[in-house]
Amino acid sequence: MKDNFDIRNNNIEREFESTLRPEIFDDFRGQNKIVDNLKIFVQAARMRGESLDHVLLHGPPGLGKTTLSYIIANELNVGLKITSGPVLDKPGDLAGLLTSLETNDVLFIDEIHRLSPIVEEYLYSAMEDYRIDIMIDKGPSARSIQLELNPFTLIGATTRSGLLTAPLRARFGINCHFEYYDAKVITGIVKRSASLLDIPIAEDAAKEIAGRSRGTPRIANALLRRVRDFAQVKGDGHIDLKISQYALEALNIDKFGLDEIDNKILTTIIEKFSGGPVGLNTIATALSEDPGTIEEVYEPFLIKEGFMKRTPRGREVTELAYKHLGKIRSSDIGTLF
Ligand code: ADP
Repeated sequence: MKDNFDIRNNNIEREFESTLRPEIFDDFRGQNKIVDNLKIFVQAARMRGESLDHVLLHGPPGLGKTTLSYIIANELNVGLKITSGPVLDKPGDLAGLLTSLETNDVLFIDEIHRLSPIVEEYLYSAMEDYRIDIMIDKGPSARSIQLELNPFTLIGATTRSGLLTAPLRARFGINCHFEYYDAKVITGIVKRSASLLDIPIAEDAAKEIAGRSRGTPRIANALLRRVRDFAQVKGDGHIDLKISQYALEALNIDKFGLDEIDNKILTTIIEKFSGGPVGLNTIATALSEDPGTIEEVYEPFLIKEGFMKRTPRGREVTELAYKHLGKIRSSDIGTLF
């Protein structure tokens, strides 16, 4: 079971997440700057009876981009349509969605960096002038017709803002970068989720789970759910510090919140590349992982926590990584004897 445990990408976890999503700004914890600004922009749009400016949300997965989009639509008191970049592969799909939007509705496009170039082009005029030109028919009878759209707000979410084209990026009036949450805020999120799920949890146990969640609410909620299983089977259902530590060990989450892949990345750089510097693609090949996933999902947290750094010559692990993994730098071995 240990090896198959993936808290990042699991459909059942996703279903469970929706029950824990905050629905109003005041229930959304952390990301204070983003939320404070959005509250003003939403209120101003409502006062003017206009659509909110287009919003780009970017940052690592699981930090609340989708959740915040639901909240924005809810607080604007408008409808919300949800789709994602890879799903919208034909301009017709986009046209269908856009024409179904009512005045001031929100269209949420997840993974917006994965839109096909042709769909992206259609989006430009939709975002700017609320209209699209679509081609109907093929060959000699092909002609273009113009469709007027209701004013709407596009919310784009991406883990890889660097991949967005400049023209698309320029069309977003509001740009929000999500940061990892600090342990105190995540502790609050764990306690809120536990109370919504009716799970009795001790303060120090909530802190323990939060501390191992990589500053990510999605992971905190998923760990809470797993720890609850252990508490039910191995204890009396009550989550205390002991059972949470036991469960987290069993799940292979170490005390810094690093999981197997994080540790594998660090170990590979140390063992195969003498601690670096080494290029991202080389690390990815050695691990049989996608370089984009390493760069956007794993690396930001490893860098933030000081296990790894980016240098002009590539990635390098730090002293902390050696200490954490109980490894010795090969250049230091001689000095030991
Ligand atoms: P993203 O879209 O960035 O990948 P989501 O919005 O899907 O992340 O968030 C994942 C889960 O984490 C949601 O189900 C939600 O319950 C929880 N969550 C995210 N951010 C917060 C927050 N600020 N406060 C409380 N719960 C949150």
